[in-house]
Amino acid sequence: ASAEDCGIVVFGASGDLVQRKLIPALYGLHLRNLLPSRFYILGFARSDMTDEQFRGRMREAITAAHAEHPAAVAQEKLDAFLAMCRYVSGDYNDPRAYERLSMRCSTCDRDFDATGNRLFYLALPPDLHPVVTRRLAEADLTDEGPQGRPWARVVFEKPFGHDLASALHLDSLLGRTLAPSQIFRMDHYLGKETVQSVLMFRFANAIFEPLWNRRYIDHVQITTAESLGVEHRGGYYDNAGCLRDMFQNHMLQMLAITAMEPPASFQAESVRDERVKLMRSLRPWPCGDTGGELCNWVVRAQYEAAPGGASSLPAYRNEPDVAPDSVTETYVAAKVLIDNWRWQGVPFMLRSGKALHRKVTEIAVTFRRVPHVLFGLSSKAQMPANVLVLKIQPDEGIDLTIQAKQPGPKSCMSTMALSFKYKDIFGVTPPDAYERLLLDCMQGDRTLFWSREEVEAAWSLIDPVLSEWAAHPQRCPLHTYPAGSWGPQAADALMRSIGARWRRPPEMGGTHEQ
Ligand code: NAP
Repeated sequence: ASAEDCGIVVFGASGDLVQRKLIPALYGLHLRNLLPSRFYILGFARSDMTDEQFRGRMREAITAAHAEHPAAVAQEKLDAFLAMCRYVSGDYNDPRAYERLSMRCSTCDRDFDATGNRLFYLALPPDLHPVVTRRLAEADLTDEGPQGRPWARVVFEKPFGHDLASALHLDSLLGRTLAPSQIFRMDHYLGKETVQSVLMFRFANAIFEPLWNRRYIDHVQITTAESLGVEHRGGYYDNAGCLRDMFQNHMLQMLAITAMEPPASFQAESVRDERVKLMRSLRPWPCGDTGGELCNWVVRAQYEAAPGGASSLPAYRNEPDVAPDSVTETYVAAKVLIDNWRWQGVPFMLRSGKALHRKVTEIAVTFRRVPHVLFGLSSKAQMPANVLVLKIQPDEGIDLTIQAKQPGPKSCMSTMALSFKYKDIFGVTPPDAYERLLLDCMQGDRTLFWSREEVEAAWSLIDPVLSEWAAHPQRCPLHTYPAGSWGPQAADALMRSIGARWRRPPEMGGTHEQ
């Protein structure tokens, strides 16, 4: 399907996400002639701006986003794009603002010859999602025509709620005001080309799927590491923390895609059903009465300044807009078990953090070792395991380590990697995840968006840990780690508990594989 004629109404148009991601992504689609022929963008926020001032800001945002490839900002193309941008200001809770918005939408439909299809994109802090949804419905802006023509769709940026209770509250409001087909819960990790290629890799190749289970896989490591600190988002982050910001959404989605059963088809419902089934099979972490056990499953930590100025980052507590006595975690490592037939007993080791040594996102599947050592090693030595690394970013691609004979008369072995680099083969870096997902919204394809059931299953896992940390902080100490390191020692101990080590291969700035 191609993107249908529509207008995008962007709430929070003065914000960080819109300027850094959304508008550059829409411009990227415009450059590749993928936007609908009749199309407009209408920004909405409290900040007072004229259309012209809004366009000025968007021009700056696009120029900044393409700073490394200034040639992409061809003036003629950019002018044509900005001519489609307009702006309305108003308070998110003021019914009159929605009347003005409705009139502006009708004017834009007329001016751009659009058919009345509208995509409302809520790039707003999550506590504003309920009020905006309600006001949109009261202003009849989310009403659809007969047979869903013209359509009205609403995109919700993650996080979906702040905890299980707020997620359920939002879901029940959405259930009363919108049909499921109108709801798009956005998690941009699902739009990453390399995350989707995990599904293709698993289900379009016959050789790995027979090995993809407890008989052949020892453990799986999923890493999302950022080298930056909280930058200018300290206020938001200090309220959220790593478990909410990364685990509740991106980390669990990567886990689901890695471990889910093959869907019957690649239709949205089939794929989402399998992800839900997987999330519902995750073993709850020990909380409540058995809460003392939790620290053997989930480790939390916060970064501090590196000794001797080895990193230029300040301690988290000295970052702008962060409370000086904050106990917010900037790092989490966790052991996850999946209670189903395929994965019984296989640990999935997840870690994510800020201010770590390198920026890297990857899924590393470590296979079981060969049962008997034949070559060159003493009988007690262990043959290194084969590791399949699905590299999400940077250096997008796939590596498979194998043991190979070194040339020469002796039976010496070394570990080699069979390496596929997306850039070398396809000659381009993958398109931005937001481009893909925005197109999916305009086409009405919800395959790569969260379902209500997934959100609830994810919060059901995370919520008890947040409560446990709040109620019994001494049981689950907040560890520290120096900025620029690979995290706290407690996370290494967690990994040792399954007889393994976190990956630190050369591309992660380390020297060993596992
Ligand atoms: P933001 O810049 O903090 O907020 C967006 C806009 O919302 C602001 O420009 C402000 O506009 C309005 N706003 C902020 N706080 C408000 C408040 N307390 N009351 C009323 N209005 C308020 O947020 P963002 O970073 O763009 O993120 C938007 C959403 O995307 C969030 O849900 C976030 O979790 C999610 N997200 C962000 C990123 C990112 O990299 N930024 C990545 C993934 C997901 P006005 O004052 O002009 O109304």
